[in-house]
Amino acid sequence: MKAALLAWLLAAGAAFAEPPAEPANEDALLHNISRRAFDDPGAMLAELSQRQPTAPTPPREAAWLFARGRVLLAAGQAEAADAVAGQLAAHAEGADLGWLLRAFIQERAGKPAGALATRALAGLDKRCPVGDEARAVRELGCDFRAAWEALRLLQREQAGQGALFDAEATSRRALALARAGGDRHIAALSLGQLAALQQSLDQLDEARDTLRAALAEAEGDPVAGARVRNNEAVVERRSGNLPAARAALEAGLALAEQANAPHLMALLRSNLVDAYMHQGLLQEALAAGRLALPALQRFGDRTYERSLHHNFAVAHIKLRQFDAARQELARVAELAVDPAELVPRARELRELGETWAEAGQHKEALAAFHGERDLNARANERNRASALEELRRKYDSAARQRDLELLARDGQLKDRQLDNRRLAQQAGFAIGALLLLSTVLIGVTLLRMRRAQAQLTASQQLLRAQSQRDPLTDLSNRRHFLAVMEQRARETGLEGFRGALLMIDIDHFKNVNDRFGHVAGDAVLLEVSRRIRAAVRASDLVVRWGGEEFLVYAPELPGADLTERAARVLHGIGGEPVQTAEGPLRVTASIGFASFPLGGAASPGSPATAGLRLHWEQAVNWVDMVLYKAKAEGRNRGVGIAAVEAPDADTLAAILQDFDAACLQGQVRLHALPGPAA
Ligand code: GH3
Ligand code: MG
Ligand code: MG
Repeated sequence: MKAALLAWLLAAGAAFAEPPAEPANEDALLHNISRRAFDDPGAMLAELSQRQPTAPTPPREAAWLFARGRVLLAAGQAEAADAVAGQLAAHAEGADLGWLLRAFIQERAGKPAGALATRALAGLDKRCPVGDEARAVRELGCDFRAAWEALRLLQREQAGQGALFDAEATSRRALALARAGGDRHIAALSLGQLAALQQSLDQLDEARDTLRAALAEAEGDPVAGARVRNNEAVVERRSGNLPAARAALEAGLALAEQANAPHLMALLRSNLVDAYMHQGLLQEALAAGRLALPALQRFGDRTYERSLHHNFAVAHIKLRQFDAARQELARVAELAVDPAELVPRARELRELGETWAEAGQHKEALAAFHGERDLNARANERNRASALEELRRKYDSAARQRDLELLARDGQLKDRQLDNRRLAQQAGFAIGALLLLSTVLIGVTLLRMRRAQAQLTASQQLLRAQSQRDPLTDLSNRRHFLAVMEQRARETGLEGFRGALLMIDIDHFKNVNDRFGHVAGDAVLLEVSRRIRAAVRASDLVVRWGGEEFLVYAPELPGADLTERAARVLHGIGGEPVQTAEGPLRVTASIGFASFPLGGAASPGSPATAGLRLHWEQAVNWVDMVLYKAKAEGRNRGVGIAAVEAPDADTLAAILQDFDAACLQGQVRLHALPGPAA
């Protein structure tokens, strides 16, 4: 270990090989020690003791204390780290770093750290004014690494709460600080995080570009490279590209091995376990997990250890090794979870329940489902107050804010267009009048034009992303769906619409508004959209189609699974009353669903429809039609298209014209799904 440390210190370059004279180098060194403590806390604690400043200036001493607090935390000594935070709070130059250290301590304990990070930032910002990062680092003595750490904590919390635009802005500011300070390691990390955010904002192309930039920035720095590969895996997994996600993790693992970073290797292996499980590679998952486990235990990383045992249990159930599975579940139970983690825990229980059920172990499946229901009820109760508060905040201010922002942006766009025109005129002038000086002038002017153009494009992209979300539910809106359909049509050419659609409409929703008011109505809409999201897959597109209508688009879904998913949505919405400020309300919905291209069992002499192409708008008409049937038959139910027999497109159109007659004549067969009982 000692030899490895030495090798690393040598490899880290001149800044570390020589005694640091420059304060900037000392900062870089302390930061490196904190960073390295993630994988080797013991050695870094020793290294730090040797570097304790004798006769220190206050800023030096504060920086050293902060590094010590972080290394202690990495070594699992949270109480000692907390004592250091106390020392910093009392220190002349350490108050901000004290808040930041407390934020790290909170985060390590799995608790929200954003408020403490914001507090630290408020102080640090005095020397790191927004938008002027280069000058701040050069002239104002901005502690850009500390500010970067605070921003990183903050953006993690923002992203966790779904405030993606805020998180993106925070992440870009962190990146600007990293670049201004010339620290390529943290610049690479910021780019990696930014890519994951862009993916969440449906900007997959941009995310991939950002990842390329991140990898370039991490060149020659295997730890940064490994972390960026981990971000890449997140991007690819969320976009449904499982093999690419797995390849990214394997590449990351190789880099972490090269950097001799055991903790990082264990985290990447845990993520690989997930990737293998998703691809059904159970033996590979078990093998990777067994390699990760000892390191996770050594570093006291209980969250990862717990999820590893959970994955082991699922793998064993699938392999019908039930005793081994039960042993793993006992380990899961021993590793207590933070009460804030109710929702992920409920998700785990659902996965377990489904796996036990697939293996035919119904008693265990039932117990898991009951556990899931209890947890969800508790999470609902806990979230109710904050959801309503969030809702009020969003509805009151977000709508107004967004309108203002859009207006302001629109104004800015126009200003920029004018600017562009003016700049172009200047360019013309320069050429005509000052032929000699013009080369210089034109160069500068063109540069400014290009910059204005780039800002224009960025604003337009942001506008486009904002205009494709519904402000109340944060779901995609019709415009986004339309864009997706156009994109699909471009990719698939004449093939016609493919995939499954579910059109969902809340029953008697007008009554909710009439009896309890619009605020309660909005709360119901928000909760129903949450329940729909929870009932479908992450890869399904959920759209707020209109007032209380939602459309789910599942790109790849065979007919049999569709009925099951429709049932899940139906029961997800109507199974439990919705909690509102006016008390619990029972809400049900009706669903029309179908899978395209429309198929049917061919009988002799009557060709099936399989292969008849439909435009997506026609597909929407079909599910709208069966939704209407579900409403007509009494609501709180689903109606799906089981089979249609039509030899050509004209017959198909005629069926839609007189749908009831076509049903009676047996040209259309329907699935009927009952909703949950009152
Ligand atoms: P049905 O079972 O036939 O679907 O009856 P319904 O009452 O649900 O349908 P109807 O279309 O008559 O009423 C829909 C209502 O939804 C009318 C409108 O005031 C309300 N609504 C639409 N958008 C919103 C919204 O954003 N917030 C609230 N609170 N209400 C909305
Ligand atoms: Mg409606
Ligand atoms: Mg309705």
